[in-house]
Amino acid sequence: MNLILLGAPGAGKGSQAARLKERYGIPHISTGDAFRSNIAKGTEIGLYAKSFIDKGLLVPDEVVLKIVAARLSEPDCEKGFILDGFPRTVAQAEALDKMTKVDCVINFSVDRETVMRRLTGRRSCSCGGTFHISKLTSDVCPICGKKLYIRDDDKPEVISERLNVYEKTTAPVAEYYKAKGLLFEVDASKELDEVYDEIVKRLG
Ligand code: AMP
Repeated sequence: MNLILLGAPGAGKGSQAARLKERYGIPHISTGDAFRSNIAKGTEIGLYAKSFIDKGLLVPDEVVLKIVAARLSEPDCEKGFILDGFPRTVAQAEALDKMTKVDCVINFSVDRETVMRRLTGRRSCSCGGTFHISKLTSDVCPICGKKLYIRDDDKPEVISERLNVYEKTTAPVAEYYKAKGLLFEVDASKELDEVYDEIVKRLG
């Protein structure tokens, strides 16, 4: 199953992807995680991407497409994959269509206020875990024990810019898939378990 999780930053795509990956036994591919890993390793791509990410802007399509094409050609993607944070532009969606077949696109809809509350309270771990500050009792990761951090792009002014970019550039991607009959809407303002149940009901 080739699945895409679409939606604003903070909509909960990453949290659902982590669960869906376990259920369906297919890899979770997050372009944001790929960039953060490149930044942590100090690669050329990482340094280049950081200049966009820190401003809340999208990394240029050709760079993202190179990363995604390489990842999708790995053997673990043969049975399917979950794309999280890609495509974010119609040009990326068109390029993906040339690489592979998309089976289902889940559109996570959520209001701006909820996103702000989630992202300003988000604490992240290098293991990929993310947690809301209201549910934490310390500053270490409940999964792996490493120290949690606040992503540079989870600062309020950057969140605001990311949301503007989402509305202008990424929202049309939902229309692109709707026209193809592939879009499935979920109300992502609900609790994680409810959203998960809704998705699984649809996917089987
Ligand atoms: P995310 O973790 O998905 O919120 O991504 C963090 C940041 O990485 C985004 O705000 C963008 O700057 C960049 N990024 C991730 N995925 C893409 C993409 N598909 N196209 C362009 N930029 C991306």
